[in-house]
Amino acid sequence: MRLRCPSCGRIYSSLIPPKCSCGEPLDVTYDYESINTSRWGRREKGVWRYRELLPDVHEIISLHEGGTPLLHARFGDNLGLNVFIKDETRNPTGSFRDRLITVAVSYGLPHARNGFVVASNGNAAASLAAYAARAGREAYTIVPKLIEGSKLAQIVAFGAKVIRYGESVDEGISYAEGLAEGRDLYNVTPESNIVGLEGQKTIAFELWEELNPTHVVVPTGSGSNLYSIYKGFNELLRIGVIEEIPKLIAVQAERCSPIASEVLGVEPKAKPTRALALYVKDPFMKGLAVKAVEESGGTAVLVGEDELDLGEKLLAGEGVFAEYASSVVVPALMELADSGYFERDDRIALIVTSCGLKGMGAEGRERFTVGGTKLDILRLLSERSMYGYEIWEALEKALKYQAVYQHLRELESLGFIAESRREGRRVYYRLTERGRRFLEAFSLQRKGFKASLKS
Ligand SMILES: [Zn+2]
Repeated sequence: MRLRCPSCGRIYSSLIPPKCSCGEPLDVTYDYESINTSRWGRREKGVWRYRELLPDVHEIISLHEGGTPLLHARFGDNLGLNVFIKDETRNPTGSFRDRLITVAVSYGLPHARNGFVVASNGNAAASLAAYAARAGREAYTIVPKLIEGSKLAQIVAFGAKVIRYGESVDEGISYAEGLAEGRDLYNVTPESNIVGLEGQKTIAFELWEELNPTHVVVPTGSGSNLYSIYKGFNELLRIGVIEEIPKLIAVQAERCSPIASEVLGVEPKAKPTRALALYVKDPFMKGLAVKAVEESGGTAVLVGEDELDLGEKLLAGEGVFAEYASSVVVPALMELADSGYFERDDRIALIVTSCGLKGMGAEGRERFTVGGTKLDILRLLSERSMYGYEIWEALEKALKYQAVYQHLRELESLGFIAESRREGRRVYYRLTERGRRFLEAFSLQRKGFKASLKS
């Protein structure tokens, strides 16, 4: 594949940045007249089934990515809607990023004698680690300081090098570009090289084959998935097999909302969210993602931190364990359904991008679940065992008594506290070993943080 800038004529062959150095956006295109989609159905399922609409490669590095199941969501029936879950957790490393990486690694292989590099907030890094291992090449992953321990474990298990840089993924992107240049690595970061997005767009092809959806609900961090899905449907439109692009719905966390806020015309936020994979403060692809939503006639939804658990539980009730960053699609669906956004015969696809096991580990979910009040409760219980009302009084906070009980229940379900004894109606709680370790680890982390501020 050779790509020529439509404006200045500059030719790109190994890396394809989102924009030409002249400022013109670059887009990988094909000879759409010659595409015969009836061939696809005769091939094995997966990303490479659609090879006419993928870059030419000498060798395919594959772990059988794509071809993921589309499950009927029973919670949709309760809303009177036809809802389906596109279960991307079934990809080889547990996320949709395998679609990107199989294409980027296969295409980049001749340029990656010294290895590959990616800046990622976790899933693309874990995926690159696996595919580089499969290709027998080194992988360098630039990941932010806020990353789930389980994603790190996955990256390390595949033998990739880990460089922790910046608080969110934003800072890592230019670092990866520098490293790629300095060490002659092939950079698969989508913000620097859009070739892998060609793989991600195959979600759209599969959705068309299986459902021909009217609406696609997409968890949105960097915006690259949203843009890829849009590009996929746009190509189906150009080939002439669909008449209309489904409405694309961008879902972001209220706490970090650069893309959704632009669509909705509200003030954006850029704070850390428990849906860590959606923590992208200043997405490079914001413009393309917003354009994708607007040109499809779709919309955006903001999801609160307190709705993440509900999303996770409802998906789990369907047999799908999703990370928080994917679970946002469920509260988003419910909000739109409540507001009467959908018609009865719409066909709605929820993209569940990544597996819940990835959101685990001391640095991930627990740290973000256990904040302010819960920590105070743990500290109180580390002194002595106490009962609910006593804890409520000791907290001296403008907090309802019921809220304290809710915190206690959650701490108990995390295994951080346990019932120690009962006196009449009073239930006394104590800190468990696990709770003690967590509190210690947290205090150490805080000390380390303070020390690093001083130095
Ligand atoms: Zn140009």
